[in-house]
Amino acid sequence: MKPAPFAYARAQSVEDAVRMLGENDDAKLLAGGQSLMATLNMRLSAPSLLIDLNGIAGLDGISLKDGVVEIGALTRHAAVMASDVIAQHAPLIAMAMPHIAHPAIRNRGTFGGSIAFADPAAELPACFLALGGEAQITGSSGSRRVHADKFFHGLYETALGHDDILTAIRLPAAAPDMRYGFAELARRHGDYAIVGLAASARADGAKLSDVRLAYFGIDLTPLRAKNAEAALANGDIDEAVAALADDLDPPDDIQETGAVKKHLAGVLLRRVAAQLTGARV
Ligand code: FAD
Repeated sequence: MKPAPFAYARAQSVEDAVRMLGENDDAKLLAGGQSLMATLNMRLSAPSLLIDLNGIAGLDGISLKDGVVEIGALTRHAAVMASDVIAQHAPLIAMAMPHIAHPAIRNRGTFGGSIAFADPAAELPACFLALGGEAQITGSSGSRRVHADKFFHGLYETALGHDDILTAIRLPAAAPDMRYGFAELARRHGDYAIVGLAASARADGAKLSDVRLAYFGIDLTPLRAKNAEAALANGDIDEAVAALADDLDPPDDIQETGAVKKHLAGVLLRRVAAQLTGARV
């Protein structure tokens, strides 16, 4: 199918884009286009105006400052994957990147687009949640930061309002005692996950604290499994897997039944717990 007709405008600055959004109730932002173009072509979305962010200088790039890794919203997945700063200071992101689609999509798709789109089966929103990052947002009333715990509101719904632009994602840089885990099950490499798990924890030998487990492909948003987090901090992996019964209630979807997803969530938890503690599986 072809998209419904739309007008196109290339924003010169973040303020320019915010102004255009304010003047057009059904305008949409265009970043890498790797999710948006599909929704337009399938006519799941029919905005009257596309506001292209790609001409705005300074919206991309990766930096490390004061213990924070900042990733500009327009930074392409491929640039994230090639970054030494990410490899050294945001290893969870480095673990997740190869699971995201394929090179052609990673050359265009952006880090900010993935977080803003908030596909419940996508890797990066779950990593953002597992790391307890912050979204840097600019809207008509100025700039603000929103913690990952408060960013995801529902299916494809986030803290971003209609005239808000996600300008950057801020992630705590890896400290020496931090450990990270990532695992996903997908039908083919590069497909969206059937179920996935991104995790971070502080480790003192095999003893874990500050555990954050963020599942994806399991609910309408990426989801923390808080009972399992507490059990893992108590050092009991069997109890952590059992606690998922209270944490997760996955609906059936086109990939799997909720019951199978729940079982797979436990399988992934054992793998990720071994990554966090350095245990053999
Ligand atoms: P766009 O498509 O341009 O925009 C997506 C949405 O976010 C739009 O509503 C747009 O208005 C909004 N938006 C974008 N940027 C901003 C911003 N800065 N501020 C506010 N709103 C914004 N992703 C995965 O995570 N895992 C996969 O396995 C995967 N597989 C894929 C397979 C295929 C075949 C394709 C086509 C895509 C796949 N993707 C996958 C999606 C890909 O990662 C996209 O790049 C990403 O979801 C959206 O990023 P984008 O820059 O292309 O955003």
